[in-house]
Amino acid sequence: MRRASSSKRASSSSRKTPDPMQFLDEFVADSLGEKGTQVLHSVGDGATDEVIEQSTRLKIAEIRSILNHLHSYGFVEYSREKNMQNGWFTYTWKVNMDRAMQNFLMLKRREHERLRNRLSAEEGTTIYSCRKGCTRLEFERAYENKFKCSSCKCDLRFLDNKQELKRVESKITALETLLANQGTRTP
Ligand SMILES: [Zn+2]
Repeated sequence: MRRASSSKRASSSSRKTPDPMQFLDEFVADSLGEKGTQVLHSVGDGATDEVIEQSTRLKIAEIRSILNHLHSYGFVEYSREKNMQNGWFTYTWKVNMDRAMQNFLMLKRREHERLRNRLSAEEGTTIYSCRKGCTRLEFERAYENKFKCSSCKCDLRFLDNKQELKRVESKITALETLLANQGTRTP
């Protein structure tokens, strides 16, 4: 969907750019839960494990695990400093907003692609599925398998996927809006 010149005009001055932190929040809440966003917020421009512990009141092991996840997503980075007296390292964490947004958008683009593929594969076909959901097959494949699930051996039944595809479609639209808004920000 492409919006005409009106949006172009608006973007030059008055259009509000979406807050990247809000998107990150939603993503982190989805994947790591409320504790994840708590940790993300307390990291901010720089915080040690102890500072994060004080502000979130979570256990240090839990904080570490969340930080490791955030780090693997590329959302946070750390620097470490050795304490000369006891030889321990102090980690200072901070949010890397640019890389976080890049990675976040890459994940969203991938999700968009995945949903588009699914929609085009399932639109206009009849899908057969077993009760446990281990298999989803088009009619032809279901027929070849004699309408039996190859893993649980249950009967395959016609699956009305209309509602599901509607949900997929609205997710795709939401993602396209998000990606279109972000697209204007890249250099
Ligand atoms: Zn099955």
